[in-house]
Amino acid sequence: MENKILLNKPFQAAAPVLDKLIAAGYEAYFVGGSVRDVLLGKAVNDVDIATSAFPSEVKEIFPKTIDVGIEHGTVMVLLDGQSYEITTFRTESAYQDFRRPDSVTFVRSLKEDLKRRDFTINALALSRNGDIHDYFKGQEDLENRLIKAVGTADERFQEDALRMMRAARFASQLGFSIEEKTTEALKNHAPLLQHIAIERIQIEFIKMMLGNYRYKGLKHFIKTGLYKYCPGMDKAALEQIASLDEPFETERQVWSTCLLLARVPLSEARTFLRSWKLSNKLIQEILTVNETVRQRTEQEIEKWTVYTVGKELSIETEKILNILGYASDINQVKEVYEQLPIYSKKDLALTGNELMKLSDKKPGKWLGDVLDQIEKAVVYEQLENDQKAIITWIKEHQLINE
Ligand code: ATP
Ligand code: MG
Repeated sequence: MENKILLNKPFQAAAPVLDKLIAAGYEAYFVGGSVRDVLLGKAVNDVDIATSAFPSEVKEIFPKTIDVGIEHGTVMVLLDGQSYEITTFRTESAYQDFRRPDSVTFVRSLKEDLKRRDFTINALALSRNGDIHDYFKGQEDLENRLIKAVGTADERFQEDALRMMRAARFASQLGFSIEEKTTEALKNHAPLLQHIAIERIQIEFIKMMLGNYRYKGLKHFIKTGLYKYCPGMDKAALEQIASLDEPFETERQVWSTCLLLARVPLSEARTFLRSWKLSNKLIQEILTVNETVRQRTEQEIEKWTVYTVGKELSIETEKILNILGYASDINQVKEVYEQLPIYSKKDLALTGNELMKLSDKKPGKWLGDVLDQIEKAVVYEQLENDQKAIITWIKEHQLINE
């Protein structure tokens, strides 16, 4: 097994940060996901740095820093137009209520820091000269494609129950299996997930659903019973999602598919989405798409729907239909959209003010109603979007009294 690697681009770029810490007499390493991913031959975007320097010491070395999570020992350093997160080696001692601790203890030892990490494949460190520091056989587990808790799985999941969701998430992202004892511990401690904030669970759940090996992640999520401690999860729907071939591209697709396969009635959909603490914007988009998908399973692409829902969500609707195995046609949606005569009421050749002036009636609800009718007629191309044509049409249809 290799113990030294050549630092490639993202690591090279961040090397000056390590150099400065080392020159000041501290230890500094690349740690976590970036080390795992480079060993797997995957693309690495951002690198995490761990150091023996305490946050105050880090701040003395670098002139430009931002306290992003100083209570956990993380300082953001700005160097040559780039930002880097530097976290002090730490241990997490007092765990309360199966959640990650509020307070941490800074330490000077790399090994101590790696010991508090979740899985062996995430507990690797890479030094400035390319040496790999592997105290927990992380490289062996990478080779064997195994997710294994650092130390005793039972204890690690009791310390922070979110790690159980992370196990399923990494299984889905990496296509790895979960080691036997770690799986046992998942089964035994799944109920502890109840103590974890839904926002944190949601992040891992979505990463699991978006993973390339979704079925693997879901298999563990289902068989260990983790799903029972997530709001509104339906076993049959999850099993179906595990068996679908198409990958999800967006959170919207994930939630819409969950709603549709779990047959959550429209009236209960909002409550379900709220229980996961999704943003109002996302909830609204999911509800819209949920409705258009249901509509599209029964009818062809509708001009009016494409107009009101917009291009992005109309395409999303077709993608979800495709995921669910229904006939779909993204190109037709694009074509219909491009050929729309207008894209909103604002595009109408007659404004509300102009319409008001044509009538002797006081402004009121009638105004909106007439504009709605004009809008529909224009979208359906029964009426040309031209002021004269619209005025003639209104008069013909006796929509105003002059
Ligand atoms: P990604 O590529 O998705 O960012 P990652 O491995 O970098 O994957 P992060 O959530 O960014 O995952 O966490 C960074 C590192 O911090 C992990 O690799 C792991 O070493 C450690 N870590 C994160 N969350 C936990 C946790 N709940 N318990 C223990 N260690 C953790
Ligand atoms: Mg990361």
